Amino acid sequence: TQSEETREFQAEVRQLLDLMIHSLYSSREIFLRELISNAADAADRLRFEALQDPALNEDDPEPAVWLRVDRDARTLTVSDNGIGMSRDDVLENLGTIARSGTRRFLDSLTGDQRQDAQLIGQFGVGFYSAFIVADRVEVHTRRAGTPAEAGVRWVSDGRGEFTVSDEPRQRRGTDVVLHLAEGQDEFLDPERLRAIVRRYSDHIAVPIRMAGGDDGEAETINRASALWMRPKSEISEEEYQAFYQQLTHDPEPPLTWLHNKVEGNQAYTSLLYIPARRPFDLFDPEPHHGLRLYVRRVFIMEDREGRLMPRYLRFVRGVVDSDDLPLNVSRELLQHNKLIDRIRAASVKRVLDALERLAKDEPERYARFWEAFGSVLKEGPVEDAGNRERVAGLLRFHSTHGGDGPEVSLADYVARMKAGQKAIYYLTAESLTAARNSPHLEVFRKHGVEVLLLAEPVDEWLVTHLAEFQGTPLRSVAKGELELDALGEADESRPEPAASDEAVEGLLGRLREALSERVSDVRVSRRLTDSPACIVVGEYEFGMNMQRMLRAAGH
Ligand code: ADP
Ligand code: MG
Repeated sequence: TQSEETREFQAEVRQLLDLMIHSLYSSREIFLRELISNAADAADRLRFEALQDPALNEDDPEPAVWLRVDRDARTLTVSDNGIGMSRDDVLENLGTIARSGTRRFLDSLTGDQRQDAQLIGQFGVGFYSAFIVADRVEVHTRRAGTPAEAGVRWVSDGRGEFTVSDEPRQRRGTDVVLHLAEGQDEFLDPERLRAIVRRYSDHIAVPIRMAGGDDGEAETINRASALWMRPKSEISEEEYQAFYQQLTHDPEPPLTWLHNKVEGNQAYTSLLYIPARRPFDLFDPEPHHGLRLYVRRVFIMEDREGRLMPRYLRFVRGVVDSDDLPLNVSRELLQHNKLIDRIRAASVKRVLDALERLAKDEPERYARFWEAFGSVLKEGPVEDAGNRERVAGLLRFHSTHGGDGPEVSLADYVARMKAGQKAIYYLTAESLTAARNSPHLEVFRKHGVEVLLLAEPVDEWLVTHLAEFQGTPLRSVAKGELELDALGEADESRPEPAASDEAVEGLLGRLREALSERVSDVRVSRRLTDSPACIVVGEYEFGMNMQRMLRAAGH
């Protein structure tokens, strides 16, 4: 036709296409995410413009994305009834004018296929990823609100030129037809397409439909509703739980969840779940799960590196959906992103708030939480200095004054400290039984002073990083000098040890000689009431249990 014109791709776009065709093969399936994301964007834009001008909806107001496969023609078509493009839009967006991100994209390439493919969406060059799998792409489109004659067709083989022509079109919106290249037949397989959609686009708010084979019935293959985007008041408990199950495959309902929408110039939504039971892989060295990060409802990645949630809260599952991060943001970018820092800090605060509430209002459920995740939470004071006090307040311990379970908080302890007591005393041991039977407890029992009994491996690390709680120092009962004299009634029944006695000095001397290399000193002490002797560690040395652990680890 007369309207037909062939143009050269802008130089940088040519370079980009060359790259798509030749070097991003290993991540080729992402083309579908990009095309679906464009289709969903087009639906969002139509929805937005139709707010001002409802006529734009024509007689087709329900947004949808369609996937159609034609095995004979070997084409895959991604269609939408979104805003569509005018001829000028097409020329501007698809090849003539370099999009602002194109150069930056090319400059950011690393040569690592996977990483580079991750950059595509970020720089606004997603459309061209179609050429990773197609050797010819057609776009048929019409801008909403324009007559059928304003339809446009764009065609290219991605090798330097493209052709644009007028093409009357009844339906508004866009069809992108991919003529699959040799060897790309997997993308004709509905199962494969379904799997890709579920992986990357499941919670796109627009339904993605696929013609279901011979009977011509169409099915929606994504969930089509981003649960977290709906108002809290409209989501039932069952829906929250079903979403949790889909997310985690945990058959048990979560302990609680936190759903927050943050508005403003850096808007995001988060839906965080605290599970009720410990997953089997909680202590695997490599994390298997993380929060799922979305940008405008497009799935970006699962945050296994703990960028959105610190390791000591790694049991938290859920979704963060940002309006402001670039689509398809890379892992590298996530590492240094202020917005992510802010989302993380706020999410940590929300989880700690929720745990504090639970501990206060529902101690029994908190005890369940503690049983499942307490030993992970104990990593908190080590990992998160900024929240050390808050996390410390959430910790629960066995104690000489408690029952059978770990139920004593540091606040409980401080509240019932003896008048004149200056420290929170603890004892670390290999096991709870060993702790309860330790001779170090004798003098504390005698004075009625409470001692926390720490028998988990992580406890050793905890106490090296938790020097105090609300101004009260933590002290090991097995280290350095004890300051129990301050506890009022001096013990009249026992005479001061006669350390100056020749006999005692003689005994100490013989003991020092016998133990020579093994101890740094032998002293008379009032630590004990029944046992004749015990080992004490220097104030600034590792505890006995820590020394045992280090030896076991080959140090
Ligand atoms: P981005 O989506 O980041 O802008 P893309 O390369 O994916 O970059 O798309 C380029 C542009 O082409 C889009 O911004 C949009 O203007 C236009 N476009 C692509 N696909 C569609 C579509 N299905 N409907 C309407 N416009 C589209
Ligand atoms: Mg895009």
